[in-house]
Amino acid sequence: MCGIAGYFSRKGSHPAMQVMLTLYAQQHRGQESCGIAATNGTNINAHKSMGYVKEAFSAETLEMLNGTAAIGHARYPTRGTSVLGNTQPYVIETLSGPIYAIASNGDIVNYNEVANELRIKGVHFSSNNDGELLGRFIVYHHEREGMGITDAIKLLMKRIKGAYSAVFLTREALYIFRDPQGFRPMMIGAVNDDIAVASESCAMDILRAVNSREVKPGEIIIITQKTELSIPFSEQQLLAPKNPPSRHHCVFELIYFARPDSYQFNEYIYDVRHKIGAQLATYDDFDADVVVPVPDSANFIAMGYAAAKGIPFNMGLIRNHYVGRTFIRPDQYSRDESVRQKFNPLRDFFTDKKIVLVDDSIVRGTTIRKLVRMVKGAGAKEVHLRIGSPPVKNSCYYGIDTPNRDELIANNMTVEEIGEYICADSFKYLKIEDLQKCVKTAGNFCYACFNGEYPIPKES
Ligand code: SF4
Repeated sequence: MCGIAGYFSRKGSHPAMQVMLTLYAQQHRGQESCGIAATNGTNINAHKSMGYVKEAFSAETLEMLNGTAAIGHARYPTRGTSVLGNTQPYVIETLSGPIYAIASNGDIVNYNEVANELRIKGVHFSSNNDGELLGRFIVYHHEREGMGITDAIKLLMKRIKGAYSAVFLTREALYIFRDPQGFRPMMIGAVNDDIAVASESCAMDILRAVNSREVKPGEIIIITQKTELSIPFSEQQLLAPKNPPSRHHCVFELIYFARPDSYQFNEYIYDVRHKIGAQLATYDDFDADVVVPVPDSANFIAMGYAAAKGIPFNMGLIRNHYVGRTFIRPDQYSRDESVRQKFNPLRDFFTDKKIVLVDDSIVRGTTIRKLVRMVKGAGAKEVHLRIGSPPVKNSCYYGIDTPNRDELIANNMTVEEIGEYICADSFKYLKIEDLQKCVKTAGNFCYACFNGEYPIPKES
């Protein structure tokens, strides 16, 4: 995952401040570290920090970053360890100084192959992060091979495989580009005469951006003080309009990652989740006392279930919002700790009740097992667990931290065994064909973590 941001100012507004607000609205996409890089027209200054956005940028820091354009990043680690050196944006120095910076969201599938090619040509890397690879690729072809930056990005799209939504900053321009399959989201919009970029539309709303739209898969957009140029993928690849590249948007963004108030991949997130709940409700013919979500990402799924069945919906589990998302914490110890710290049942609420407990997905199974025990320990008579996605059986190579199939409970146990392990009175997953009914264009999505059909094979 990760959240990216970009802002190009034409009327003297403070781009680093706007980027900070954009990152703040996207904190759910990455909580490990964050950074902002800004150009003042002469060079690029940056500030990076471990931890949350609101603690990372003081008024003095933002003043140091004032200029004409800025990019930013909130990191969720996939490739690379949890150290400041892997924090984006990456600033790339040349003999002219620090004059390029990049921030990206996604994972590169042929990282080793491309990085080794560049190393052989004398390019040095300061991290093993995908964003740096994209930036070094562009700068190498621009500085050493004399290619225009736009042409270097076009070459990047042919050569580098995988998921990337990226913002690339120079002293004069902001380049915005997205992989041809459109795995990760990216929005662009106008704030008066300025241009704003964000991973999610909820961040564009904070800036009161107008005419927001998705950056199209494979599109390159170049913003300068006077111009705004869009190069569609079909034009650069000379594809016939009737032959567009296949789309593979991450369906997990709709189920879990994105904020419910975001609009993404031509879908309202809250609406998709509501439909998922309604689909789950068709599996059951019993009555329950109350439908309870695992907050927050399952809230709308549980609402959809409750509305379809005519059963009351209520928030029986209270979430401590000052603890990060359990799925995106990097190690098992901190995940286990944060489950206990994160959820607390309402006292007396569950006593003698038949509960439908709804969660969005199960990855390792440790969180939900503890939660079912917590609800039963709070007095529930029965707990029927419903999951708003199919079993996660495969690792993601496109930007989500499930690198090892052995960690996935659905890869190690049958549905019946998982139900027993979790100690629920009944247990059901959403079927993949029913998930596909919840989106407008089912063929435009990636479902590889459920069905193993990878749109781009991983490099060997
Ligand atoms: S494998 Fe799963 S998490 Fe990864 S991009 Fe595809 S749908 Fe999303």
